[in-house]
Amino acid sequence: MSISLKKFGLTLAALALLGGMTACGGSTTNEKTSASPAASSALSSTEPTGGNDAGFREGDLGDEVFVGPLVVAGKFFQPVPMTGGGLDVANSSMHVEADIAAIENNGYGWGAGDFVPGLTVDYKFTGEDGSVAAEGQLMPMNASDGPHYGLNVPKLPAGVYKVEFTIHAPEGWMLHTDPETGVEKHEFWTEPLVATFEGFQWDPETTPWW
Ligand SMILES: [Zn+2]
Repeated sequence: MSISLKKFGLTLAALALLGGMTACGGSTTNEKTSASPAASSALSSTEPTGGNDAGFREGDLGDEVFVGPLVVAGKFFQPVPMTGGGLDVANSSMHVEADIAAIENNGYGWGAGDFVPGLTVDYKFTGEDGSVAAEGQLMPMNASDGPHYGLNVPKLPAGVYKVEFTIHAPEGWMLHTDPETGVEKHEFWTEPLVATFEGFQWDPETTPWW
């Protein structure tokens, strides 16, 4: 009795699933058709340069920077489409990432090397003449290799830039203070932490992905 009921349930579920798949199938196909030309041209443009198998090449803005309880790696690669808007690929120079992780014994309970969530991160590109070429706020996001703060940066002229990430403490993020479960530090930093990458050389003519 129970077996036949289960079978009946499974059949209904299968039918519902089939119906759902059929309904979704059309729209999925349409999306793929419209999206694939852009995706394939972006990938193929990197192939003549001998890019890696993933179809993109990632560069470092400089060496990792240690600030306060954090270690910050700055990365850049081809502009990417994202949910929630952001600057479109055609009008962007590159995608920039701040990979912000906790150092060992950071006092806040973060695991060493763990991504630190809840931060507000501003970025700024400053040219050699001291003029600001681009600035704004990075957004938290996930890529296939994990969470980071990032953004598609507007078009930048060729030049040597100082890139700064200004990192504000988490807001509305609480810390345990009791001896049994509390963390060592009971207050986040009050002055923003600044991770600076000097001498970042940028030339849109020779970037690996164009
Ligand atoms: Zn990103």
